[in-house]
Amino acid sequence: MTTTTLTRCRITVRGTVQGVGFRPFVYRNALELGLTGFVRNDSAGVVIEVEGAELAVEELSRRLVDEPPPLAIVASIEVATIDVAGGHSFEIVATSTGGPPAVPVSVDSATCAACLAEVDDPADRRYRYPFTNCTDCGPRYTITLAVPYDRSATTMAGFAMCAQCQAEYDDPADRRFHAQANACPRCGPRLQWCRPDGTGRLVGDDALDAAVTALLDGGIIAVKGIGGYHLATDATDEAAVAALRGRKARDDKPFAVMVADLAAAEALCLLDPDARAAMASPSRPIVIAPRRPDASVATGVAPDSAELGVFLPYTPLHHLLVGELRRPLVMTSGNPSDEAIAHDDDDAIARLGPMVDAFLLHDRPIHVRCDDSVARLRPGRGVQLLRRSRGYAPEPRPLPVAARRPILAVGAELKNTVAVTTGPAVVASHHIGDLEHLATYRSFLHAVDHLCHLHGVVPEVVAHDLHPEYLSTKFAVDLDLETCPVQHHHAHVASCLVEHGHTGPVIGVAFDGLGYGTDGTLWGGEFLVADLRGFERVGHLAPVTMPGGSAAIREPWRMAVAWAGAAGVEAPFDDARLAAVADLAARGQGPVTTSMGRLFDALACLLGLRTTVTYEAQAAITLEQAARTIERAEAPTYPVAVDTDDGQLVLDPRPLIAAAVADRTAGTPVAVVAAGVHEAIGRAAADAAECLARRHGLATVALSGGVFQNVRLSEIVEERLTAAGLAVLVHRQVPANDGGICIGQAAVAAAR
Ligand code: ZN
Ligand code: ZN
Ligand code: FE
Repeated sequence: MTTTTLTRCRITVRGTVQGVGFRPFVYRNALELGLTGFVRNDSAGVVIEVEGAELAVEELSRRLVDEPPPLAIVASIEVATIDVAGGHSFEIVATSTGGPPAVPVSVDSATCAACLAEVDDPADRRYRYPFTNCTDCGPRYTITLAVPYDRSATTMAGFAMCAQCQAEYDDPADRRFHAQANACPRCGPRLQWCRPDGTGRLVGDDALDAAVTALLDGGIIAVKGIGGYHLATDATDEAAVAALRGRKARDDKPFAVMVADLAAAEALCLLDPDARAAMASPSRPIVIAPRRPDASVATGVAPDSAELGVFLPYTPLHHLLVGELRRPLVMTSGNPSDEAIAHDDDDAIARLGPMVDAFLLHDRPIHVRCDDSVARLRPGRGVQLLRRSRGYAPEPRPLPVAARRPILAVGAELKNTVAVTTGPAVVASHHIGDLEHLATYRSFLHAVDHLCHLHGVVPEVVAHDLHPEYLSTKFAVDLDLETCPVQHHHAHVASCLVEHGHTGPVIGVAFDGLGYGTDGTLWGGEFLVADLRGFERVGHLAPVTMPGGSAAIREPWRMAVAWAGAAGVEAPFDDARLAAVADLAARGQGPVTTSMGRLFDALACLLGLRTTVTYEAQAAITLEQAARTIERAEAPTYPVAVDTDDGQLVLDPRPLIAAAVADRTAGTPVAVVAAGVHEAIGRAAADAAECLARRHGLATVALSGGVFQNVRLSEIVEERLTAAGLAVLVHRQVPANDGGICIGQAAVAAAR
C-alpha cells in the first residue's frame, strides 16, 4: 500500500441544499470514506470541512456533484485546501446564525416511495399515518417561517418528537436523520373531522374513515393539504359534481381530478412520455391533457372540454383517500371564484363552510398558501407550465444578467406572482392570484414580505408594470424605493429570454389579453425588437375600439361587434344591446386595443361559439378546441392584410374576419372555419416575425404572452419560423401568461 497524503479541505456548497437531507448525506459519505471533520448549514448554503486521504476527499467532492440527494439542487461547489487540524470523528454541527440568509428554501415535494411503503405496511408504526415524510420528501416552503431551515423555524415547531422519532432524527444512518418535519402517529400532526358548525368531531383514523364514507355517499368535503384546502368530491358522481359547481359558483371552468396512479390517469387522458414524467415528478403538477372519449368522469367535471386536468396524490393523505375510494376525485382549490385560497382553519371554516358538508383538517399550520401547479401537454412537444406554484416555488432561476442590486418585482394584476433577485438568480413566489380581490391583495403583501425575508433581500429597486391602475403598480410606487417601470409585453418577452438564458436582441412576439402600452392604449398583439434592457415596437395587430372598456373582457360579443363593424360584416347574432355597442364602436367610444386575445374572443363569438365568458380566455380556448378535429392541411386559407403605419408593420385581420364569417354563414362547419382562423393568424404572425427579423438582422424569435398557450397556434408559428431558418424560443418552465411577468420585470431591472 502506498502512503497517502493527508489533506484538509473546506467545501462550500451553494444551491438548494438545506432541508433536503444534504448534511446527513455528507455525513454518511464522509464516514464511508473514512474522513474526519464536520458539516454545517450556514446562511450561504452548506459548509463542509473534511480531512483524510487526498483521494477520499476528491471522491467526496465528486459525489456532492454527481450523486447529491434527490431534492438537492447544487448550484456551485468551492473547494479550498486548508491546514490539517487532526480529529477523530465526523460531525454535524449546529447551524451557525448571523449574516443574511441567502439559501433557497426547497420546494414542497411529493411523498417518496420509501415513505409510501411504510404508510401501506400494517406492521410499520407509520401505517396509515397521513403526515409521514422524510429528508427526501414532504412539505418545505409551505411550512417554513424563516431560514436557516430548522424545525424551530417551521410550523412543526409545536410538535415535540417522541423518543422513536428523535432517535431517527439523531441517527446519521437513518433516512430521517435531521428530517425537520419528522413525525409519527404518536407525536405528529393529527387528522380532524368536523361539520361546518363544529359538530361531529372525530380524530385520527376515524376522521379519515368519515371522509371516505362521506365521499362515497356523494358528499363534498374540504381537505386541508400542504399549501391550502381542496374541495373534494367523487368525480364520477354527476349529482355531486353538479352540486359542487353550484356551491362554488363556478360555471364552466374545469375541475382538476386526482387519480391513484399513472395507470388511472391513462384511463382518463391520452398521455405521452413528457406528460407522464411531469405528472409523476416530485412537483406533481396538474397536467392538462387530451381526454379519452370514454373517460369515466361526470360531464360536469370539464363541461364541453376536450381536455382534462389530472394529477397524482402528493401527500400520504391523498394516497389514503384515493386508495380507499378507488375512483377519480375532484380536487379543486378551496376558494370562491378567483380569490386567494384559504390557508388557516378559521378562515377555511368561515369561507368554505357554506360550500361543504364537512372538513377534513389537521393541526399542522400552513405558513405559505400555495395552489397546485398547472401544466398543459403540447402532445409531442413537451409540457408547458401555466401556473408555477406548489412544487416549483421558490426554486431560483439564473438571470441572463446578474442583478447588481437587490430587486423586487411585483408582477402584473391577474395571475399575480412576485419575485426577488439574489445576485445571479431570480426567485419567483407561488401563484398569488388576481389582485382585484381584497383577500388576494393581502396575500400579495404577505408574499412580498415572506419572499424578501426568506432570501434576506432588502430591495433597493422595485420593478413594476406601466399600468397605473394595477394594485401592484400602486404598491410599488408607494414604496420609498427607486422604481423600474417595465412595459407589460417587454416583460413577457424578457421572461421568455430568462427561461432560455438569452440576453437578446430578439424579435419578441407578445400576444395576450391586455397590457398597458407606452402610448396609453391597450396592447396585446405586439412585435418588439427587444433585449433585456429595452425594446422598440416594430409591429402590432390593427387597433380597434373596445366598446364598454373592460366589460368587453367578460363579454366577447362586444369585441365581436367592434371587429364585425370594422370588417363590414354583420354580426351573426341579435341582441338588444347590439346597436348601442355598435354605435359606441363606430364612434370610437372606449379604449383602443391591439389585443390578439380580444381578436380570438371576437372570432369565437362571430363563429357562434360563445357570446360571454365565465373565466379568462374561455372564448379563445373554445375556438382552439373547436378546431381540434381538423388536420392542419385541411384548413381553409383566409387572408390577413399587412400594412405599414409609421414604419411599423400592422396585421389587419379584417379580410380574415370577412372570409371566415362568410364561410360560416354559407354552412361550412365551425371546426373547419376555426382551423382556418388559426392557420391564417399563425401564418401571418410567423411571416411578420420573419420579415421583421430579416429587416433587423436578427436570427431569433421569442414567443410569449398567454395567447401562446394555444397549442395549435403556437405549433403553426413555431413550425413556420423554424422552416424559415430562425431559432424560436418558447415557454416551458416560466409561464407564458401574466404569471411569468415578475420574472421578466426582474430580468429587465437587473440588466438596466
Ligand atoms: Zn419520504
Ligand atoms: Zn413520533
Ligand atoms: Fe399579459
